[in-house]
Amino acid sequence: SDHQLEYPASPDEMDWAELYPEFQDQSTGEMTNQVTIADIGCGFGGLLVDLSPEFPNDLILGMEIRVQVTNYVEDRIIALRNNHAKDKGYQNISVLRGNAMKFLPNFFHKGQLSKMFFCFPDPHFKQRKHKARIITNTLLSEYAFVLKEGGVIYTITDVKDLHDWMVKHLEEHPLFQRLGAEWESKDRCVQIMTHATEEGKKVERKKGDKFVACFERLANPTII
Ligand code: SAM
Repeated sequence: SDHQLEYPASPDEMDWAELYPEFQDQSTGEMTNQVTIADIGCGFGGLLVDLSPEFPNDLILGMEIRVQVTNYVEDRIIALRNNHAKDKGYQNISVLRGNAMKFLPNFFHKGQLSKMFFCFPDPHFKQRKHKARIITNTLLSEYAFVLKEGGVIYTITDVKDLHDWMVKHLEEHPLFQRLGAEWESKDRCVQIMTHATEEGKKVERKKGDKFVACFERLANPTII
């Protein structure tokens, strides 16, 4: 089935046309666009759905490790595409079952992505579980590899301790620099991610806090 954890040997071996059929050139068979936006641990897909009309020329991919949740998002996207068949809406979003902490470079070329979202990642509260968190030094180097210069990592969580952890690791990493509160207040994606995801809505109902931090992918240092 499509739902086994299988990884392409390289991004070029991935069948992207299966996920985004409308973006395949019928005469050449080539994809006209590449995935540029990734939602890591997309859950039930609320962010994908809200980003879709904002970025009609970007292919947006949700990555989710849970089978049933991935199936749900697939069905949700199929239904949206059917309901919007006339205007070809929601053709630019899709979901993949996979472990985003592994093999990201099997899916994306160096510098391919312009935005990566980490919305309400699992907190792994216990100290001994911290290494399972989705933002660590090693993983940040992988995220930096697939992000283009000037690309942005978006993070949001209701767990203050996790927020501090993500900020600390991103600030310590030489290839990332935090974007300021003024930038955040003007950025459309910050607005969207604050309200679009199912977890974010749950936090809203409980009147919980939401902590946002965004980081720009810096240029690789030139070695003189
Ligand atoms: N981002 C969504 C939201 O804001 O509603 C979901 C948040 S939920 C708390 C965290 C999600 O990350 C879960 O759906 C979980 O299955 C997924 N996840 C955890 N580790 C993952 C991994 N290594 N790769 C992909 N998804 C992962």
